[in-house]
Amino acid sequence: MASEIKSEIELLRTRISSGATTARAVVESSVNAAQKLNGMLNAFLEIDRLGALKRGDEVQKGNRSPNAVTTPASSLAGVPMAIKDNLCVRGMQTSCGSRILSDYHPPYNATVIERLLEAGAIIIGKTNCDEFAMGSSNENSAFGPVKNPWDLRRVPGGSSGGSAAAVAAGIVPVALGSDTGGSVRQPASLCGIFGLKPTYGRNSRYGLVAFASSLDQVGVFGRSVRDVATVLEVIAGRDPQDATTANVPVPDYSAALTGDIKSLRIGFPRALFGEGLDGDVRTAVENAIDTYRDLGAEIVDVELPRAEYCIAVYYIIATAEASSNLARYDGVRYGFRAEDAPELRSMYRRTRDEGFGPEVKRRIMLGTYVLSAGYYDAYYRKAQQARALLREDFRKAFESCDAIITPTAPTPAFLLGEKVDDPLAMYLNDVYTVTANLAGVPGLSVPCGLSADRLPIGFQLLGPYWSESELFKLADAYERTQSFIARPPIYAG
Ligand code: GLN
Repeated sequence: MASEIKSEIELLRTRISSGATTARAVVESSVNAAQKLNGMLNAFLEIDRLGALKRGDEVQKGNRSPNAVTTPASSLAGVPMAIKDNLCVRGMQTSCGSRILSDYHPPYNATVIERLLEAGAIIIGKTNCDEFAMGSSNENSAFGPVKNPWDLRRVPGGSSGGSAAAVAAGIVPVALGSDTGGSVRQPASLCGIFGLKPTYGRNSRYGLVAFASSLDQVGVFGRSVRDVATVLEVIAGRDPQDATTANVPVPDYSAALTGDIKSLRIGFPRALFGEGLDGDVRTAVENAIDTYRDLGAEIVDVELPRAEYCIAVYYIIATAEASSNLARYDGVRYGFRAEDAPELRSMYRRTRDEGFGPEVKRRIMLGTYVLSAGYYDAYYRKAQQARALLREDFRKAFESCDAIITPTAPTPAFLLGEKVDDPLAMYLNDVYTVTANLAGVPGLSVPCGLSADRLPIGFQLLGPYWSESELFKLADAYERTQSFIARPPIYAG
């Protein structure tokens, strides 16, 4: 039953260090695939062919950077990666999918990027996303939507849809995204790959453009659990540049992938499997629960009574924080500035009016409203109280289980344009994912089959703080039972 442990990173490392191939050749084929498929997918906003090839040569030679020596044996040596366009990479653009930052080139690397480079990763490009990571379908990008490699008429999910599509289409084995309310897990699910949102404070947010700072976390996409675990191990840990990173040791995540989950208890929140859940998704997730039972895990009933308020709470807190974080884009310090404004105030107004898209404007207005005198107590303070109760729900639930299983998204990938005119319908897509961000706990989306229309379905594992090892262990045990992982019709190579 158990199939081979899959790790494309390990495979690449072995092939490069044995001389079977070179880092340059690996990167070249990845860049070729990106350039070939991007016309269809629109997953990349920038592809750095020359830079990536040059780095391939450097990694091959053994590259001495200020902090580390990267050799062909380093953990990510020669691994091509795609990075969501809201993470700063020196020498490339960081547009956040927005017109207002369309020509912004940050002069520094995000901490997670610095760590990837030290481990030998090669960044081939920046990926398309919903503007400032606000969205669940990638249709809010100022540079056009990303298409789902499983069906080009459908959304890849959002907001990190470009990174998800690039991994699903075989362009890169792993990629980074950001997850404020599901933006790594939901597109991972809709594209049929793995996607992790770590515990809040596990990764540095330094160099990640802020959307909602108490919820934002850098996450990882991969086609295998082991690859996601390997990347997390490289990027995780305390960073003096981000005071919200915790001083919790980073374990050897790969060591947790034993396949043995006999003593583990998985919580089943029955109430979340009701209204609004697509039939195919329900069946696939219930089948995954049966698989876990067969593997020896104990399935226990749990309740998250406050989860029903999560969408309301999330869209108050996230918009409040966004309205504050996005105040800095005024045409003075960054990127776009409206032309020919007669004086300062109209320059601010016109810059923001022309620079931001409709969803970002909606959120700034919503957020400003819930923070305004007279409404602060009714909305923002209430939402913070409800958030505290939700955390308490999770704490209680984790007294009787090691992880909780839910669907990742209520439906498989929907059609482009299907929900653009109905923001509430779009927000409801996040019903299973926002809880983890509100509570600060880690969540991992695991592909678990295809719908009748051959669209990917994923389940989500949620765990207590710092339980990434257990989530990887559970996901890996499930992955071993899958004799093959289906590939989308649009696939490199
Ligand atoms: N879809 C959610 C939103 O629109 C989550 C976004 C995210 O995680 N960045 O806010």
